[in-house]
Amino acid sequence: MRHISDVGWIEVITGCMYSGKTEELIKRLRRAIIAKQSVKVFKPMIDNRYSEDKISSHNRNMLEAIVVRHSDEILPLVEENDDVIGIEEVQFFDEKIIDVCKYLADNGKRVIVAGLDQDYLGQPFENTMRLMAEAEYVTKLLAICVKCGNLANRTQRTVKKKDRIVVGSVGMYEARCRKCFDPEL
Ligand code: ADP
Ligand code: ZN
Repeated sequence: MRHISDVGWIEVITGCMYSGKTEELIKRLRRAIIAKQSVKVFKPMIDNRYSEDKISSHNRNMLEAIVVRHSDEILPLVEENDDVIGIEEVQFFDEKIIDVCKYLADNGKRVIVAGLDQDYLGQPFENTMRLMAEAEYVTKLLAICVKCGNLANRTQRTVKKKDRIVVGSVGMYEARCRKCFDPEL
């Protein structure tokens, strides 16, 4: 299959937890697969929720993915005829993921990344922040605040842990609006 275009680009899908980033990523990738484009999806090793070699949304929508430990494993796995490269949980990759995405887009690939824009303290995740600046398209999604029902753009950690990365979902994190978000817990 030939490339869809000589010119690639970067799409960023971002927002808080439960905002539907993975669903949106899966939707875009599925449509490309239906259009018979060659699609590869990568995810970092750190996130082993639900399944190892799939990306999986909170409502259990799934797609096959290649699990990598480091961003430098990605380029050797991308083939000339691949059209679309999906990257899940981009905030958990090492910082070289930004150059990997740039290289792929510069070489004609459609690169779709999904990732959290903020950590549990409301601080930006650097990879997502930098890719938002680099990208041609940015989609910021919102969840529903579990406290008040307003639109939520924050991820509230509901367990007392100081590490920036604590992998987990239901019971450890909640979607909250800016009014109900409390980084002090
Ligand atoms: P993300 O990748 O952004 O964490 P997912 O795509 O995995 O989000 O999951 C989105 C789904 O999570 C929604 O379609 C819905 O079924 C579920 N969900 C659970 N809690 C919420 C919430 N507070 N607001 C919105 N959706 C929620
Ligand atoms: Zn609220």
